[in-house]
Amino acid sequence: MLSLEAPFSSSKAQLTKNARILVIEDEDLIRNMIGVSLKEEGYDVIEINDGQKALNFLQSQETVSMDEMLDLIVLDLMLPQVNGLDICRFLRYQGNTVPVLILSAKVSETDRVLGLEVGADDYLTKPFSMRELVARCRALLRRQQYLNVPQTAVKQFKDVMIFPEECRATVRGEDLNLSPKEYKILELFLSYPKRVWSREQLIENIWGMDFVGDTKTVDVHIRWLREKLELDPSNPEYIITVRGFGYRFG
Ligand code: CA
Repeated sequence: MLSLEAPFSSSKAQLTKNARILVIEDEDLIRNMIGVSLKEEGYDVIEINDGQKALNFLQSQETVSMDEMLDLIVLDLMLPQVNGLDICRFLRYQGNTVPVLILSAKVSETDRVLGLEVGADDYLTKPFSMRELVARCRALLRRQQYLNVPQTAVKQFKDVMIFPEECRATVRGEDLNLSPKEYKILELFLSYPKRVWSREQLIENIWGMDFVGDTKTVDVHIRWLREKLELDPSNPEYIITVRGFGYRFG
């Protein structure tokens, strides 16, 4: 039987760049094993064996292009010069949100909690299997990818389409002529269909922290958007009011 599956359909063969993973671990054997395992998965791996070198490298990363940015850091806690917790603190202090997976020989709950408190995303206690490490890395990368979806793909929900590169949206094939705020709301809605948004969350995402005004502003924009979008704005099909919570798309 002929397979109709495209030969390059596997996730590893996407046109996007390989994820870049920095492994900071001073034990050569473990670091090499991690490096080999992650490279086998198709990731680009950078290995560093010392805390100070890691900090210097991370400082140099502040000016690199998107392509060279790190996607994940695997971080040992006990390192020469600068320990892993301080490296993690440094990253978060710099506003760097790259996912961090902490490795530690320590087993106590307080170390685990401390690791997460300084901004690590996950924690593995030594000894661990390479399979588990790879699985955790993959999960963290997937989560990060989901958060950083480049807003260039055309999105569609029922009869609504948005064209992010043109900042344009259509419904039933007709241009919507949205204001920038209305467009941003619609784009957010279409990125997460069925998700319920509170008015505060919409303000945070659309207007940002410097917003002055009250949540009524949201209702006003939703009303405008419904008038452009819905066949019957008083009986909306797309932007649904979720009583006591906020709004939902679809
Ligand atoms: Ca160590």
